[in-house]
Amino acid sequence: MVSRVIPVDPFDLVIFGGTGDLARRKILPALFRRFCSGQMEDESRIIGAARSDLTRDEFRQIVAEAIAEFNTSKDCETGTVEAFLERIDYVNVDAKGEDGWKELSDLMIPGRVRAFYFSVAPSLFGPLAERLHAHGMADADSRIVVEKPFGRDLETARALNATLAQHFDESQIYRIDHYLGKETVQNLMAVRFGNMLFEPLWNSQYVDHIQITVAETVGVGGRGEYYDRSGAMRDMVQNHLMQLLCLIAMEPPAKFDPDAVRDEKLKVIRALDDVEPANIVRGQYGATKGAQDYAHDVENPRATSESFIAMRVNISNWRWAGTPFYLRTGKKLKARSSEIAVIFKETPHSIFGAEAGRHRNILTIRLQPNEGMDLDVTIKEPGPGGMRLIDVPLDMTFAEALGPEGEDVPDAYERLIMDVIRGNQTLFMRGDEVEAAWAWTDPIIEGWETRGDRPVSYEPGSSGPEDALVLIHRDGRRWREIRS
Ligand code: NAD
Repeated sequence: MVSRVIPVDPFDLVIFGGTGDLARRKILPALFRRFCSGQMEDESRIIGAARSDLTRDEFRQIVAEAIAEFNTSKDCETGTVEAFLERIDYVNVDAKGEDGWKELSDLMIPGRVRAFYFSVAPSLFGPLAERLHAHGMADADSRIVVEKPFGRDLETARALNATLAQHFDESQIYRIDHYLGKETVQNLMAVRFGNMLFEPLWNSQYVDHIQITVAETVGVGGRGEYYDRSGAMRDMVQNHLMQLLCLIAMEPPAKFDPDAVRDEKLKVIRALDDVEPANIVRGQYGATKGAQDYAHDVENPRATSESFIAMRVNISNWRWAGTPFYLRTGKKLKARSSEIAVIFKETPHSIFGAEAGRHRNILTIRLQPNEGMDLDVTIKEPGPGGMRLIDVPLDMTFAEALGPEGEDVPDAYERLIMDVIRGNQTLFMRGDEVEAAWAWTDPIIEGWETRGDRPVSYEPGSSGPEDALVLIHRDGRRWREIRS
């Protein structure tokens, strides 16, 4: 199966923060892969813009090294890296001063799509938008890409939206959440709305509960200072888990167009109940042999943020009233694994007798590792004797199902950057969505602060704190095992 790559019209992409970690690890390798696949026309250009005083050749060297280190797949023809580097330029720009802006604006070619990727600290988003406008680069063909975090609460998110809105229309602002660019996440919509099989069962009458898990094995790493100001709630739940929740719970949009999809997602966020403290467990990883605990990793002995959170969330609407959603995310857990599991209700009655038991179907959408889906179905255990039933997965691992192409599932950034160039906002968060997500998150965090709640400790390499097990056990349910 060979998919058709449609080249996009020549564009200029400026990466503010082009020398930074995100640009080197994700953005530049993703662009290189799109170039390899033939999607970028020769005239397209990528312009790094950052504080470092570099020549174009020195920046090209940084790009070449980033590709060598972080481009994990796709064999490109010999000479492709050199051809890609030809498309690269660099300008030394100060987001907060006047240095470099004239050079940058002189580089722009009129009449083509211009994308400005803000891969810099959020405090620079406003100054960048202002200067792009002041230097005549914020025209109708330009668009900006904004990385997370988008604010740290409703007030700051609103202020940021207002600042960007002074210079750019909402249709020009692409708030990126790379979870939405994952192939499986888009497949979630394809499965729900492209098949007759699932949608009629997709409600509280047939679905017992839904679990969303994003588990990491790593600790906070070098992001300690940022992380301790944020915690798992701000860093993961308000954005990534919320987006997954929206896609799984939303009503079918009338069409697959940006505002139709985002309107439905927004309705889900607005239908979320407040979460009682009893329905949330926060954890912090402790020390193990040879590894420090959370407080040492963030270099703050009074660290109060959570590196783990589990919560029970209810959506108050006709479709989902009575079906709880259990969300869980954490660091230093037993395996790196992200999945959404839709656990259907048990069959109401077993015609095979009490011994055969009552069974349930589970649809699992795996985001990592091995992107794919499986559906547990009940069958007869092979062999003679009575009617014994077992549950087996119908496995659809993309790498297997799609052959060589499935092995090379595009990285989320590849898809999303090309969507920016094509002007498709479907997989990007709208300003009102982000604000609604903060409006739901803020009272939860304020509650912890007012009460002085502290996270409980958990053992690194475990499934999280004991209390998280209790959270779901008391409803007569259990977490799915975290495994890679
Ligand atoms: P980084 O510190 O590695 O890089 C920052 C970049 O900004 C550098 O290129 C630097 O030259 C440039 N810069 C700093 N001050 C500047 C100024 N005054 N004018 C112009 N350029 C300036 O940061 P990063 O890890 O690449 O993160 C960039 C953004 O992406 C941040 O908002 C971060 O929260 C977000 N983000 C990063 C990751 C990641 O994995 N690194 C993941 C998600 C989101």
